[in-house]
Amino acid sequence: MRRKIIAGNWKMHMLRQPGTALASEISRVASANPEVDVVLCPPYTLLGAVGDAIGDSLASLGAQDAFWRDAGAYTGQVSPVMLIDAGVTYVIVGHSECRGRFGVPEPDFDETVLRHFGDTDRTVNLKLLACLSAGLRVICCVGETLGEREAGQTDATVQAQIEAAIVGAEDLSAVVVAYEPVWAIGTGRTCDTQEADRVCGVIRSHIRRLRGADAADRLRIQYGGSVKRSNARELLSMPNIDGALVGGASLVAQEFAGIIEACR
Ligand code: PEP
Repeated sequence: MRRKIIAGNWKMHMLRQPGTALASEISRVASANPEVDVVLCPPYTLLGAVGDAIGDSLASLGAQDAFWRDAGAYTGQVSPVMLIDAGVTYVIVGHSECRGRFGVPEPDFDETVLRHFGDTDRTVNLKLLACLSAGLRVICCVGETLGEREAGQTDATVQAQIEAAIVGAEDLSAVVVAYEPVWAIGTGRTCDTQEADRVCGVIRSHIRRLRGADAADRLRIQYGGSVKRSNARELLSMPNIDGALVGGASLVAQEFAGIIEACR
């Protein structure tokens, strides 16, 4: 039986006072629901304050990204060992808002979708490996764009992304996959429950082919994309969905608490 894992991706939201209040509230909910793993991923600026608010509750601290080197002249980047030093346990890598722009000669810069930061399958792989070797747990995001879905490439896209992400990672026990259809993130459009479960099943089957039944059966796969208290129970009851990666609704204590409680 896989433990459910609910992670809140605060993205570029929250200042210290409301952030610590939210983290304290969610920490209480996490401790009241010990059968669920609860992860809070604030912006880097709040890792210390949110870590303090989590204290010795059952919630875990997560970061939203990491670079793949330990230290160096990489202005603006944060390394896995720095995250460990800050008390972080989980890191999100490959979020669709971070994928997509390196190596494109004339990047098609679209202000509305915020996919500006340039991760590729290769950098996602480097980040995943560096985080694992530092001792972090990784939430690795995969998911198709609307164009890929409409072209019938959903399964091939997520299979290629997950396959590339885990190259060289022998042990997947510290990896969680988040299936996040890009068109469902922050849009209010949730993927149909059956379809979300089907794609999570495609990911699991692909891991089974690549790494065997044991790794596939143990792998936790979250769904992400406009998850709310009102749709969480149905999504979380599906056989291949082991949790949720939550953006907008993780910023509202009652909403996020409702999603955690929906795991019961
Ligand atoms: C996310 O940022 O990973 C996400 C799923 O966002 P939202 O829940 O707002 O769609």
